Amino acid sequence: MTRPRFNRILLKLSGEVLMGSGQFGIDPETVARVAGEIKAAKEAGHELCVVVGGGNIFRGLAAAAVGFERTSADYMGMLATVMNALAVQNALEQIGVDTRVQSAIPMSTVCEPFIRRRAERHMEKGRIVIFAAGTGNPYFTTDSAAALRAAEMNCDALFKGTSVDGVYDADPKKVKTAKRYDTVTFNRVLSDDLKVMDASAVALCRDNNIPIVVFNIRDEGNLARVLSGDGTATIVQN
Ligand code: UDP
Repeated sequence: MTRPRFNRILLKLSGEVLMGSGQFGIDPETVARVAGEIKAAKEAGHELCVVVGGGNIFRGLAAAAVGFERTSADYMGMLATVMNALAVQNALEQIGVDTRVQSAIPMSTVCEPFIRRRAERHMEKGRIVIFAAGTGNPYFTTDSAAALRAAEMNCDALFKGTSVDGVYDADPKKVKTAKRYDTVTFNRVLSDDLKVMDASAVALCRDNNIPIVVFNIRDEGNLARVLSGDGTATIVQN
């Protein structure tokens, strides 16, 4: 399959990716490896910005299910993403990659607030911008934040790093005959309820014509491979 070249991408890293094989929290080895993937992609000439999730630390919906008030729980979830963003920043700077963290919830002693024009300037200077605190609003997810930032930053594609190598017509862990799509439309993803990202994130990408590239980020070197047109992935597009 020949893929279009994506120069500027937004990479969505879920909290699950950052916890490695653990059940909770941040695994330093995994974060270091993911940082290496980002560095390799940058060295291959791509511009990257990153949205990090927080599900490895706190999820608002799950907390609300056991009695937390939903909006407070969501703010706790957003704060969790800031911790993850700092961990990714740290790992990138340890290998010599210049970064900035921008948070949708201002916390100026910790990182910059989200200012789109400033983020743009950082990217022009070759820095990796890590967007934290999701959209800054409860009742959203970091998938929606990723779609939003991808649109705001004029990204050519949203790369969703997961632990599977693309989008299947059924759960490949349960159904042996499940078939992986090379490409699939946004509308098919929504109508068949395929597990890619939440529906509002998929719809935002569809409406702004931003392809979603689903790939396995646990596979070493895969981000750069998929970016260069090799490597297994599914492209969700119009
Ligand atoms: N969250 C939120 N608004 C946002 C983004 C995130 O309220 O714009 C909260 C929400 O509670 C969510 C948590 O932050 O459960 C962590 O984000 P998410 O579940 O998207 O992380 P991931 O699944 O990617 O690890």
